[in-house]
This record gives sequence, structure tokens and C-alpha cells, in this order.
Amino acid sequence: MKVSKFGGTSLANAFQIQKVCSIVLSDPDRKVVVVSAPGKRTKDDIKVTDLLIDVATTRIAGNDYKKPLELVIDRFREICGELEIPDALPAVEKAVTEVVEAAIYDNVSYIDSVKAMGEDSSARIVTEYLNSTGHKAHYCNPRECGLFLEHNDIGKAVILDESYDNLSTLRKDEDTIYIFPGFYGYTKAGQIITFSRGGSDITGSILAAALSAEVYENWTDVDNVYAVNPNLVNNPFPIREITYDEMRELAYAGFTVLHEDALYPAYVRGIPINIKNTNNPSANGTWIVSKRTHYDSLITGIAGEKGFSSVTISKYLMNQQVGFLWNIMRIFMEEGVSIEHIPSGIDTISVVVRKKYFTPEKQEIICNRIMKELNADNIKVERDLAIVMIVGEAMANSVGIMARAASALSNAGINLRIVNQGASEISMMFGVAESYCSYAQKVLYKELFRY
Ligand code: ASP
Repeated sequence: MKVSKFGGTSLANAFQIQKVCSIVLSDPDRKVVVVSAPGKRTKDDIKVTDLLIDVATTRIAGNDYKKPLELVIDRFREICGELEIPDALPAVEKAVTEVVEAAIYDNVSYIDSVKAMGEDSSARIVTEYLNSTGHKAHYCNPRECGLFLEHNDIGKAVILDESYDNLSTLRKDEDTIYIFPGFYGYTKAGQIITFSRGGSDITGSILAAALSAEVYENWTDVDNVYAVNPNLVNNPFPIREITYDEMRELAYAGFTVLHEDALYPAYVRGIPINIKNTNNPSANGTWIVSKRTHYDSLITGIAGEKGFSSVTISKYLMNQQVGFLWNIMRIFMEEGVSIEHIPSGIDTISVVVRKKYFTPEKQEIICNRIMKELNADNIKVERDLAIVMIVGEAMANSVGIMARAASALSNAGINLRIVNQGASEISMMFGVAESYCSYAQKVLYKELFRY
């Protein structure tokens, strides 16, 4: 049995939804389908999720939300009309309007509940369409199916373990195709709660894990995952196979094909993930697996992401002071700032953090505490850093990649603020000024993929 998740461009209009349904029907193993909200039809279009966020924030601000709401309903009216399922519209319109017009107790929960309605409506429409064409499909409500979530300590929605057991009983009838809305679940108190943007990928992975699927298919609008962002390089190398570990590193550093948090559920149960193209279903796509069968290249991928800061602390004879590092980490922990990396030297240590959590106020408090409580000699903060990563399991057994990468970057005039090779030797990380984020990736690609 396969769990198949379709992204926003696959649900963007009636034509795309028909493609989705024919893909689903072409393989009897595709029995559980996870859908996103309708995405962009053209480059300048607006995603339904963004339209819904606009509806919610307009109502919170006390302004007229009926106009933006009408834009949402119009999208669904057009889709239902073109699919010739006009009877599906009233249920969709009722569900959306009820949530939009509900009492607002707290703004965050209200926005979550409204923005989940894109996925919810997609699931209702796909179900109706399949039923109208003579197939047996069932719309799944995440609460009835037991998908329970909560916020973790940095405000991210995470799954409650019991959900896996609940969801494992989803397929009560073998002949039915179950259509599950992505992106959201419920708190135990019965409130809608959404994952971060792009989170339908997470729902798909959770269901694949809960149902012990043979594969988790993630249908999108590209034939493959590419070795580098295709907006930066013409015709980049396609990745046919990649391990969870490699993908995790690349997703961390900005690969956006699959949501960063979507790997974990499938990884834990060893379920292979196949990224495929709704517009070209016969292409093999990219396989994310626990063990690779072959290596097409030494490097698997290059990625980069902005939004990091580093705090470099110097203290003469730091290496001889028991507990110095522990005390630094304790201060970051007490101030609620999560640490991403800690490259270190003999008398210096850099703590790399996400800029969004390391506000200028936090910076002031943390730096003062480190100077005062730990008697540091010096402390230097770089606020605007990008992390650029080279990832590839095959690197572990080869010599000289770091030298080639570092000299290519230095020949291009890019100053390396941080260099770090992960203990696993499957990745190398470079910290560069944010303004060099794209350029550094291009330079590295040119050096490492043209051998
Ligand atoms: N619709 C949501 C978003 O646009 C979630 C998703 O598509 O995965 O972020």
C-alpha cells in the first residue's frame, strides 16, 4: 500500500485535480491520498493558504473580511464547476465560512483554523470528484482519525505519539480510497493546529509511517530533486537516489522540495520516499532511502540558507577550564535560544544560532552574561550569516574535497567566517556573509560538479 501526497500545484485547478485522480486510479496500491490546498495556477497567482491567512488577519483587524473570503470561495466555485460537481460547493462553502466566522479566543489559534481550510476543502473536493466518477472515496477528518498535535517549546506543531496508533486503523475498507487533508491536526482540547508552511508533507509522512506503507510518494511539480537550487544553475544534476541523512542535511540548509520535518516519521520506520512529478508521472523521480544502491557523483547536493548569527567567544586557556563550554550552553539554554552548531578552536568557540530567535535584545543579554559570568576575554557577534552545505556520503572516503571547496570560495573572493566538517563526514558547512549565499553555492557547484 502506498501513501500518496499531492502538493499545491497538483491541486491548483480542475485540470490538475483530474491528473491527480488519474494518477491515484492508475495504481490500485494508492489507497491513502494526502492533499494540499490549491496552490498557484500561474507565477503571479496567490495560493489559497495565503488568501485564507489574509481573510483571518483582516477579520482580526476588525475590517471587512467578506471580500477576501469571496476570493477563496471563488477559487473553489471555479474548481467545482469545472469538475462538474456543483453539489460539492455548498459543503465546502459552509465549512470554510463557519470557521472564518467563529468566535476569536486567541489570534494564533484562529489563524491556524482558518488557514487549514484550504487543505480541508481540497480533500472534500477530491473525494466528491472520485465518487462522482464512480469510485469509492472517503473524506477523512483528522480529528475523527485521531491526528493529535501540540506545540513544542519553540512553538512548532509536533505529533503526539498516540496518533500513530490511532491512524494505523484508518483503512477500514480495502476498496475505498481515503482522502486526508494535509497540514493540520487537532489539539487534545479539540482546536485545529497547523504545521509550519509546506506542512502537508509532514502529514503524508506521518500517515505512511502509521500505516507501514511500502512507499511514501510525494507528488510535486518537478521531475527530480536537483543537486543545487535550479534557480541558481542551468540544468543542474538530477538526484536519483539520496539517503535520509543526506536529505536531512540538505533540507536543513535550504532544500525546499520536501519539508524538513517530513523526513523523520518515514525515516524512523524505514519507509522509502519517492518524490514524483504530477505533470510527468512516468519519470522515476528521486528516491530517499536508508541505504543507497549506487552513487552517481561524489557530492550529492549543495544548499544554502540565510538567517544565521554566530557568537564567537575567546578565552585564553579555555581548553583547560572544566565546564567552560557547558556554561556557555547553559546561558543560551536559560535564555531560550536553541544552538545550531558549535565549531570550536583551542581558545575560541563559535556558537551558531538562528537569527530569528537571537534578537538584538537576546544578543545583549547573552553577551553580557558570558562576559560577566564566564570572564571571557572577548566576544564577537556576526548577525547576518548564511550557511552553505556540501553533502554527500561518498565524500567520506575521498581526500581533498574541503581543500577544493575552500580554495574555490577564496578564489571567488568569498570570505569564510566558519568552516565545519560534521563528525559523520557526510557534510561540510561554510558560514559566509548573507550577501554571498547564492554566489557561494554557484561557485561550489561549478567546482565540485564539473570534475
Ligand atoms: N498549504 C500549506 C502551505 O501553503 C501547506 C502545504 O501546502 O503543504 O504552506
